[in-house]
Amino acid sequence: REQIKAQEDSVQTIVIDKSLKNDYPKENATFLTLCRNNELYETMETIQSIHDRIMPSINYDWVFLNDKPFSEKFIYTVAMFIPQGKISFGQIPREHWSYPEHIDQNLAAWRREQLKQEYVLYAESESYRHMCRFFSGFFYNHALMQQYQYYWRVEPGTKYCCNIDYDPFQLMRTKQKKYGFTMTILEYKATIRSLWEHFKIFTEQYGRSSPSNLLDLVQNDDKDRSYNLCHFWSNFEIADLSIFRNPDYQAYFDYLDSTGGFFYERWGDAPVHTLAISWFLSKDDIWWFSDFGYYHSPYYHCPASDDLRIKNRCFCDSEDDFTNNLISCTPHFLKVLNT
Ligand code: GDP
Ligand code: MN
Repeated sequence: REQIKAQEDSVQTIVIDKSLKNDYPKENATFLTLCRNNELYETMETIQSIHDRIMPSINYDWVFLNDKPFSEKFIYTVAMFIPQGKISFGQIPREHWSYPEHIDQNLAAWRREQLKQEYVLYAESESYRHMCRFFSGFFYNHALMQQYQYYWRVEPGTKYCCNIDYDPFQLMRTKQKKYGFTMTILEYKATIRSLWEHFKIFTEQYGRSSPSNLLDLVQNDDKDRSYNLCHFWSNFEIADLSIFRNPDYQAYFDYLDSTGGFFYERWGDAPVHTLAISWFLSKDDIWWFSDFGYYHSPYYHCPASDDLRIKNRCFCDSEDDFTNNLISCTPHFLKVLNT
């Protein structure tokens, strides 16, 4: 508690190390949760949901980030709750959660008003835009994330409803995967009106083409070659952070950021990640965690196989599975990834 108090005035960083000496040989990996102090109990519920379901004896480190300082109550409660591993609490530097100088804030406010007329989720929210920008261009370089190669993004309130009887990070390494997903979905067009155009401009100027036609994930098969609005649903991601920590991705993010689209429109980190992946990853880099039971309101991913659901003690209803939903892109993605 003294450590928590002492830091109230500076940018907060608190690390509580509960690693065990003879721990299971772990990958260089961490869970990452961005959340607010008032999401404490949803966060605990989700932590418990993972700990209940993942193969016993795995306790990966956990990084918690917030744009504001975490409260003493949040830190104390979570640090007591997680039994093992290194638990870190950090604050996001102001430059990564504020308007860059080139943004015209009056224009941004006007554009938010306009988007509201289209009944788009979070149309009027400034914090949502900072969050999406943070997950697009900054999270992987936060000081507390730097030591890790892999990360698993965990949002408060999500649920895991099947046993996971292996180490997903180990799977990523041994199968040489770089990006793991559970669900895919269509984006609201009004939030990303100019994203595709900017993606095309950037990639053409940058002159590095897609190595394996993964662009077919996101590009309509018509004369316009427009964006099909598909993306990996990024509230769940297990990824190799090297896909973000490289000059190509950084140049891509810097270009997107320079256009102001995170604020003048409402670009989500999900389409931003997905377009980058389709640009510079290969089919073999992608992994579908189809055996996971995963819930993020209002959708479930639930394994299709009865045997698997019984073996892994799933409580989700496969009839609720999102994979073949009208607004899911997974059937299309599987076609592209498997041909
Ligand atoms: P949605 O999944 O697109 O509906 O967006 P969420 O509201 O779930 O936000 C995505 C993630 O960012 C969640 O982990 C939230 O807890 C977190 N988040 C969203 N807005 C803020 C914010 O203003 N501050 C902080 N600290 N976290 C936020
Ligand atoms: Mn969410």
